[in-house]
Amino acid sequence: MGKLIKFDHVNEHGDFEKILSHFGIDYQKSGTQLRCLCQLHDDTNPSLSIALEAIGDTKRNTWYCFGCKNSGSIIDFAAHVEGCDLRSAAELVAEVSGCSLAPARSGKSKSKSKKTAKGSEKAQAGKKGQNRGNPRSADKNAGKAPSRQPDDASDAETGNPPLRFALTLDQEHPYAIDRLGAQTVAAFGVGVCDPASRSMMAGRCCVPIHNLAGELIGYAGRYLGDDPNQPKWLMPPGFEKRRVLFNAHRVWGSLHVVLVEGFFDAIHLHTLGIPAVACIGTAVSEEQVSLLGELGVRRVTVLFDEDDEGQAAAERVVPALARAVFVRLGSLPVGCDPDEAERETLMEQARAVW
Ligand SMILES: [Zn+2]
Repeated sequence: MGKLIKFDHVNEHGDFEKILSHFGIDYQKSGTQLRCLCQLHDDTNPSLSIALEAIGDTKRNTWYCFGCKNSGSIIDFAAHVEGCDLRSAAELVAEVSGCSLAPARSGKSKSKSKKTAKGSEKAQAGKKGQNRGNPRSADKNAGKAPSRQPDDASDAETGNPPLRFALTLDQEHPYAIDRLGAQTVAAFGVGVCDPASRSMMAGRCCVPIHNLAGELIGYAGRYLGDDPNQPKWLMPPGFEKRRVLFNAHRVWGSLHVVLVEGFFDAIHLHTLGIPAVACIGTAVSEEQVSLLGELGVRRVTVLFDEDDEGQAAAERVVPALARAVFVRLGSLPVGCDPDEAERETLMEQARAVW
Protein backbone atom coordinates (compact mmCIF):
# COMPACT_ATOMS: atom_id res chain seq x y z
CA MET A 1 0.00 0.00 0.00
CA GLY A 2 1.38 3.37 -0.95
CA LYS A 3 1.30 6.65 0.84
CA LEU A 4 -1.72 8.87 0.50
CA ILE A 5 -1.14 11.19 -2.42
CA LYS A 6 -3.42 14.09 -3.17
CA PHE A 7 -2.63 14.76 -6.78
CA ASP A 8 -4.32 18.11 -6.78
CA HIS A 9 -2.33 19.20 -3.77
CA VAL A 10 0.94 18.21 -5.42
CA ASN A 11 -0.06 19.92 -8.67
CA GLU A 12 -0.84 23.06 -6.72
CA HIS A 13 2.28 23.08 -4.56
CA GLY A 14 4.83 21.71 -7.01
CA ASP A 15 7.64 23.99 -8.13
CA PHE A 16 7.91 23.87 -11.92
CA GLU A 17 11.23 25.68 -12.08
CA LYS A 18 12.79 23.16 -9.72
CA ILE A 19 11.35 20.32 -11.80
CA LEU A 20 12.83 21.72 -15.01
CA SER A 21 16.19 22.17 -13.29
CA HIS A 22 15.95 18.66 -11.88
CA PHE A 23 15.63 17.30 -15.43
CA GLY A 24 18.29 19.67 -16.76
CA ILE A 25 15.84 21.41 -19.07
CA ASP A 26 16.71 25.02 -19.96
CA TYR A 27 13.90 27.52 -19.83
CA GLN A 28 13.13 31.18 -20.19
CA LYS A 29 10.99 32.96 -17.67
CA SER A 30 8.76 35.84 -18.47
CA GLY A 31 6.52 37.01 -15.66
CA THR A 32 4.59 33.99 -14.47
CA GLN A 33 5.24 32.00 -17.66
CA LEU A 34 8.04 29.66 -18.55
CA ARG A 35 8.99 28.55 -22.01
CA CYS A 36 11.10 25.53 -22.88
CA LEU A 37 11.61 22.85 -25.47
CA CYS A 38 8.77 20.36 -25.54
CA GLN A 39 9.84 16.94 -24.32
CA LEU A 40 7.08 15.11 -26.17
CA HIS A 41 7.88 15.98 -29.72
CA ASP A 42 11.03 16.81 -31.61
CA ASP A 43 11.08 20.47 -30.74
CA THR A 44 13.69 22.93 -31.98
CA ASN A 45 11.98 26.17 -31.11
CA PRO A 46 10.69 26.26 -27.50
CA SER A 47 7.01 25.41 -27.96
CA LEU A 48 6.13 24.45 -24.43
CA SER A 49 4.48 27.11 -22.35
CA ILE A 50 4.09 26.73 -18.59
CA ALA A 51 1.78 28.79 -16.42
CA LEU A 52 3.26 29.30 -12.96
CA GLU A 53 0.10 31.01 -11.80
CA ALA A 54 -3.51 30.69 -12.85
CA ILE A 55 -4.35 33.00 -15.73
CA GLY A 56 -7.92 33.11 -16.99
CA ASP A 57 -8.94 29.52 -17.65
CA THR A 58 -5.45 28.19 -17.30
CA LYS A 59 -4.64 26.60 -13.97
CA ARG A 60 -1.43 27.09 -12.05
CA ASN A 61 1.39 24.69 -12.89
CA THR A 62 -0.10 23.55 -16.17
CA TRP A 63 1.64 23.35 -19.51
CA TYR A 64 0.66 23.45 -23.14
CA CYS A 65 2.71 22.69 -26.24
CA PHE A 66 1.97 24.87 -29.25
CA GLY A 67 3.67 22.29 -31.44
CA CYS A 68 2.15 18.94 -30.56
CA LYS A 69 -0.84 20.43 -28.67
CA ASN A 70 -0.31 18.22 -25.67
CA SER A 71 -1.03 19.69 -22.30
CA GLY A 72 -1.18 18.68 -18.68
CA SER A 73 -0.20 19.24 -15.10
CA ILE A 74 3.20 19.36 -13.47
CA ILE A 75 2.75 15.71 -12.49
CA ASP A 76 1.95 14.75 -16.09
CA PHE A 77 5.05 16.59 -17.17
CA ALA A 78 7.28 14.76 -14.70
CA ALA A 79 5.67 11.44 -15.70
CA HIS A 80 6.40 12.09 -19.37
CA VAL A 81 9.98 13.13 -18.85
CA GLU A 82 10.79 10.50 -16.25
CA GLY A 83 8.79 7.85 -18.12
CA CYS A 84 7.08 6.71 -14.96
CA ASP A 85 3.50 6.36 -13.72
CA LEU A 86 1.64 9.30 -12.24
CA ARG A 87 2.02 8.12 -8.69
CA SER A 88 5.79 7.97 -8.93
CA ALA A 89 5.73 11.28 -10.78
CA ALA A 90 3.73 12.91 -7.97
CA GLU A 91 6.26 11.63 -5.44
CA LEU A 92 9.08 13.00 -7.55
CA VAL A 93 7.41 16.40 -7.90
CA ALA A 94 6.81 16.59 -4.16
CA GLU A 95 10.35 15.58 -3.32
CA VAL A 96 12.02 17.94 -5.80
CA SER A 97 9.69 20.80 -4.90
CA GLY A 98 9.98 20.21 -1.17
CA CYS A 99 6.24 19.97 -0.67
CA SER A 100 4.08 17.37 1.01
CA LEU A 101 2.12 14.66 -0.81
CA ALA A 102 -1.16 15.68 0.80
CA PRO A 103 -2.44 18.54 2.88
CA ALA A 104 -1.91 18.19 6.62
CA ARG A 105 -4.99 16.70 8.20
CA SER A 106 -6.39 19.47 10.32
CA GLY A 107 -10.06 18.77 10.03
CA LYS A 108 -11.01 22.08 8.57
CA SER A 109 -8.63 22.88 5.76
CA LYS A 110 -10.77 22.08 2.77
CA SER A 111 -9.55 23.57 -0.45
CA LYS A 112 -11.37 26.65 -1.63
CA SER A 113 -12.69 25.08 -4.78
CA LYS A 114 -13.46 21.63 -3.51
CA LYS A 115 -15.33 20.40 -6.53
CA THR A 116 -12.78 21.25 -9.17
CA ALA A 117 -9.91 20.18 -7.01
CA LYS A 118 -11.44 16.82 -6.34
CA GLY A 119 -12.30 16.23 -9.96
CA SER A 120 -8.85 16.72 -11.26
CA GLU A 121 -7.20 14.94 -8.39
CA LYS A 122 -9.25 11.91 -9.15
CA ALA A 123 -8.48 12.34 -12.79
CA GLN A 124 -4.80 12.23 -12.03
CA ALA A 125 -5.18 9.28 -9.76
CA GLY A 126 -7.19 7.37 -12.28
CA LYS A 127 -4.92 8.10 -15.17
CA LYS A 128 -2.04 6.26 -13.72
CA GLY A 129 -2.93 2.78 -14.82
CA GLN A 130 -4.89 3.22 -17.99
CA ASN A 131 -3.26 6.20 -19.53
CA ARG A 132 0.30 5.15 -19.61
CA GLY A 133 -0.10 2.23 -21.86
CA ASN A 134 0.51 -0.53 -19.38
CA PRO A 135 -1.87 -3.28 -20.32
CA ARG A 136 -1.05 -5.17 -17.18
CA SER A 137 -2.18 -2.49 -14.81
CA ALA A 138 -5.80 -3.24 -15.58
CA ASP A 139 -5.40 -6.94 -14.95
CA LYS A 140 -3.60 -6.33 -11.73
CA ASN A 141 -6.66 -4.64 -10.35
CA ALA A 142 -9.04 -7.31 -11.53
CA GLY A 143 -11.40 -8.36 -8.82
CA LYS A 144 -10.32 -5.55 -6.52
CA ALA A 145 -12.43 -2.58 -5.77
CA PRO A 146 -10.77 0.61 -6.94
CA SER A 147 -9.33 2.45 -3.97
CA ARG A 148 -11.68 5.24 -2.98
CA GLN A 149 -11.65 7.98 -0.48
CA PRO A 150 -14.34 7.24 2.06
CA ASP A 151 -15.97 10.63 1.62
CA ASP A 152 -16.06 10.32 -2.11
CA ALA A 153 -19.68 9.91 -3.04
CA SER A 154 -19.67 11.91 -6.24
CA ASP A 155 -19.98 8.91 -8.52
CA ALA A 156 -23.19 7.81 -6.95
CA GLU A 157 -24.90 10.47 -9.03
CA THR A 158 -23.39 9.42 -12.31
CA GLY A 159 -25.22 6.19 -12.93
CA ASN A 160 -22.03 4.55 -14.20
CA PRO A 161 -20.17 3.44 -11.07
CA PRO A 162 -16.54 2.35 -11.35
CA LEU A 163 -16.19 -1.31 -12.28
CA ARG A 164 -14.93 -3.66 -9.63
CA PHE A 165 -13.26 -5.90 -12.15
CA ALA A 166 -11.28 -5.60 -15.35
CA LEU A 167 -11.63 -7.88 -18.36
CA THR A 168 -8.59 -9.77 -19.49
CA LEU A 169 -8.26 -8.82 -23.12
CA ASP A 170 -6.15 -10.24 -25.90
CA GLN A 171 -4.08 -7.30 -27.01
CA GLU A 172 -2.23 -9.29 -29.61
CA HIS A 173 -5.42 -10.01 -31.50
CA PRO A 174 -5.06 -9.25 -35.22
CA TYR A 175 -8.23 -7.14 -35.32
CA ALA A 176 -7.01 -4.80 -32.61
CA ILE A 177 -3.47 -4.63 -33.93
CA ASP A 178 -4.50 -4.10 -37.56
CA ARG A 179 -7.00 -1.47 -36.67
CA LEU A 180 -5.01 0.52 -34.14
CA GLY A 181 -1.42 -0.66 -34.01
CA ALA A 182 0.23 -2.31 -31.04
CA GLN A 183 1.21 0.88 -29.25
CA THR A 184 -2.25 2.36 -29.37
CA VAL A 185 -3.83 -0.92 -28.36
CA ALA A 186 -1.64 -0.94 -25.28
CA ALA A 187 -2.11 2.75 -24.50
CA PHE A 188 -5.89 2.56 -24.63
CA GLY A 189 -6.17 -0.90 -23.13
CA VAL A 190 -8.08 -2.19 -26.15
CA GLY A 191 -8.21 -5.91 -26.79
CA VAL A 192 -10.40 -8.82 -27.74
CA CYS A 193 -12.32 -10.66 -25.07
CA ASP A 194 -11.74 -14.41 -25.07
CA PRO A 195 -14.48 -15.95 -27.27
CA ALA A 196 -14.69 -18.84 -24.81
CA SER A 197 -15.26 -16.61 -21.83
CA ARG A 198 -18.66 -16.21 -20.23
CA SER A 199 -18.52 -12.44 -20.51
CA MET A 200 -21.21 -10.75 -22.57
CA MET A 201 -18.27 -9.25 -24.45
CA ALA A 202 -16.90 -12.68 -25.46
CA GLY A 203 -15.32 -12.47 -28.90
CA ARG A 204 -15.75 -8.71 -29.13
CA CYS A 205 -13.04 -6.10 -29.44
CA CYS A 206 -13.40 -4.12 -26.22
CA VAL A 207 -12.63 -0.50 -25.57
CA PRO A 208 -12.36 0.45 -21.88
CA ILE A 209 -14.40 3.49 -20.93
CA HIS A 210 -13.48 5.76 -18.02
CA ASN A 211 -15.13 8.56 -16.14
CA LEU A 212 -13.57 12.00 -15.80
CA ALA A 213 -11.55 10.71 -12.88
CA GLY A 214 -10.02 8.04 -15.06
CA GLU A 215 -11.82 5.21 -13.28
CA LEU A 216 -12.87 2.29 -15.44
CA ILE A 217 -16.64 2.34 -15.71
CA GLY A 218 -17.34 -0.06 -18.55
CA TYR A 219 -16.42 -1.53 -21.88
CA ALA A 220 -17.84 -1.09 -25.33
CA GLY A 221 -17.52 -4.21 -27.43
CA ARG A 222 -17.20 -4.15 -31.22
CA TYR A 223 -18.65 -7.23 -32.90
CA LEU A 224 -16.14 -9.00 -35.11
CA GLY A 225 -18.26 -11.74 -36.62
CA ASP A 226 -20.53 -11.73 -39.66
CA ASP A 227 -23.96 -12.28 -38.13
CA PRO A 228 -26.01 -9.27 -39.27
CA ASN A 229 -28.31 -9.64 -36.27
CA GLN A 230 -25.56 -8.88 -33.79
CA PRO A 231 -25.26 -5.27 -32.71
CA LYS A 232 -22.10 -3.69 -34.04
CA TRP A 233 -21.35 -2.17 -30.65
CA LEU A 234 -22.48 -3.56 -27.33
CA MET A 235 -22.51 -1.64 -24.08
CA PRO A 236 -23.18 -3.17 -20.66
CA PRO A 237 -26.85 -3.25 -19.63
CA GLY A 238 -27.81 -0.06 -17.85
CA PHE A 239 -24.75 1.78 -19.04
CA GLU A 240 -25.64 5.42 -19.49
CA LYS A 241 -23.60 6.67 -22.38
CA ARG A 242 -25.18 10.09 -22.16
CA ARG A 243 -23.21 10.56 -18.94
CA VAL A 244 -19.90 9.81 -20.59
CA LEU A 245 -17.52 11.49 -22.96
CA PHE A 246 -15.13 8.85 -24.15
CA ASN A 247 -11.48 9.83 -23.67
CA ALA A 248 -12.36 12.86 -21.54
CA HIS A 249 -10.01 11.83 -18.73
CA ARG A 250 -7.10 12.13 -21.14
CA VAL A 251 -7.79 15.70 -22.20
CA TRP A 252 -7.72 17.56 -18.89
CA GLY A 253 -6.19 20.98 -19.42
CA SER A 254 -7.18 21.23 -23.08
CA LEU A 255 -9.11 24.40 -23.80
CA HIS A 256 -9.93 23.11 -27.25
CA VAL A 257 -11.09 19.59 -28.04
CA VAL A 258 -12.39 17.92 -31.14
CA LEU A 259 -15.71 16.16 -30.62
CA VAL A 260 -16.14 13.00 -32.65
CA GLU A 261 -18.78 10.26 -32.82
CA GLY A 262 -16.99 7.05 -32.00
CA PHE A 263 -14.31 5.38 -29.95
CA PHE A 264 -11.95 4.74 -32.83
CA ASP A 265 -12.31 8.33 -34.04
CA ALA A 266 -11.26 9.68 -30.67
CA ILE A 267 -8.44 7.17 -30.32
CA HIS A 268 -7.12 8.02 -33.79
CA LEU A 269 -7.09 11.76 -33.13
CA HIS A 270 -5.62 11.34 -29.67
CA THR A 271 -2.71 9.30 -30.96
CA LEU A 272 -2.00 12.10 -33.44
CA GLY A 273 -1.70 14.50 -30.53
CA ILE A 274 -5.11 16.10 -31.04
CA PRO A 275 -7.22 16.26 -27.86
CA ALA A 276 -10.46 14.51 -28.78
CA VAL A 277 -13.52 13.15 -27.04
CA ALA A 278 -16.34 11.03 -28.43
CA CYS A 279 -20.00 11.50 -27.59
CA ILE A 280 -20.55 7.80 -28.49
CA GLY A 281 -23.14 8.29 -31.17
CA THR A 282 -24.49 11.27 -33.03
CA ALA A 283 -26.18 13.17 -30.23
CA VAL A 284 -24.82 15.25 -27.40
CA SER A 285 -26.64 15.14 -24.08
CA GLU A 286 -26.88 17.90 -21.50
CA GLU A 287 -24.74 15.77 -19.21
CA GLN A 288 -22.04 15.58 -21.85
CA VAL A 289 -22.13 19.34 -22.28
CA SER A 290 -21.65 19.66 -18.50
CA LEU A 291 -18.71 17.27 -18.65
CA LEU A 292 -17.01 19.56 -21.15
CA GLY A 293 -17.54 22.36 -18.68
CA GLU A 294 -16.05 20.32 -15.85
CA LEU A 295 -13.01 19.64 -17.98
CA GLY A 296 -12.55 23.36 -18.50
CA VAL A 297 -12.98 23.05 -22.27
CA ARG A 298 -13.83 26.36 -23.92
CA ARG A 299 -13.81 25.57 -27.62
CA VAL A 300 -15.08 22.53 -29.45
CA THR A 301 -14.66 21.54 -33.07
CA VAL A 302 -17.35 19.08 -34.07
CA LEU A 303 -15.94 16.54 -36.47
CA PHE A 304 -18.48 13.87 -37.28
CA ASP A 305 -18.47 11.37 -40.10
CA GLU A 306 -18.33 12.92 -43.51
CA ASP A 307 -21.54 11.29 -44.82
CA ASP A 308 -24.93 13.09 -44.92
CA GLU A 309 -26.06 11.45 -41.70
CA GLY A 310 -22.95 12.54 -39.85
CA GLN A 311 -23.17 16.07 -41.18
CA ALA A 312 -26.84 16.41 -40.30
CA ALA A 313 -26.08 15.17 -36.79
CA ALA A 314 -23.16 17.55 -36.44
CA GLU A 315 -25.41 20.48 -37.29
CA ARG A 316 -27.88 19.32 -34.65
CA VAL A 317 -25.32 19.15 -31.85
CA VAL A 318 -23.91 22.61 -32.46
CA PRO A 319 -26.76 24.52 -30.76
CA ALA A 320 -26.61 22.21 -27.73
CA LEU A 321 -22.90 22.84 -27.35
CA ALA A 322 -23.11 26.53 -28.12
CA ARG A 323 -24.84 27.15 -24.82
CA ALA A 324 -21.67 26.24 -22.98
CA VAL A 325 -18.66 26.55 -25.29
CA PHE A 326 -17.54 28.14 -28.52
CA VAL A 327 -18.35 25.66 -31.26
CA ARG A 328 -17.05 25.25 -34.73
CA LEU A 329 -18.28 22.78 -37.30
CA GLY A 330 -15.26 21.02 -38.77
CA SER A 331 -15.26 19.41 -42.16
CA LEU A 332 -13.45 16.58 -43.84
CA PRO A 333 -12.90 15.80 -47.51
CA VAL A 334 -15.50 13.57 -49.18
CA GLY A 335 -15.14 9.91 -48.27
CA CYS A 336 -12.89 10.64 -45.31
CA ASP A 337 -14.00 9.82 -41.77
CA PRO A 338 -12.25 10.98 -38.61
CA ASP A 339 -11.00 7.50 -37.70
CA GLU A 340 -8.91 7.21 -40.82
CA ALA A 341 -8.17 10.76 -41.89
CA GLU A 342 -4.56 11.73 -42.45
CA ARG A 343 -2.73 13.57 -39.74
CA GLU A 344 -2.43 16.77 -41.78
CA THR A 345 -6.13 16.86 -42.59
CA LEU A 346 -7.00 16.47 -38.94
CA MET A 347 -4.39 18.92 -37.70
CA GLU A 348 -5.90 21.49 -40.03
CA GLN A 349 -9.26 20.99 -38.35
CA ALA A 350 -7.76 21.04 -34.89
CA ARG A 351 -5.82 24.19 -35.60
CA ALA A 352 -8.54 26.03 -37.45
CA VAL A 353 -8.80 29.69 -36.57
CA TRP A 354 -10.60 30.60 -33.39
ZN1 LIG B 1 5.17 19.25 -28.02
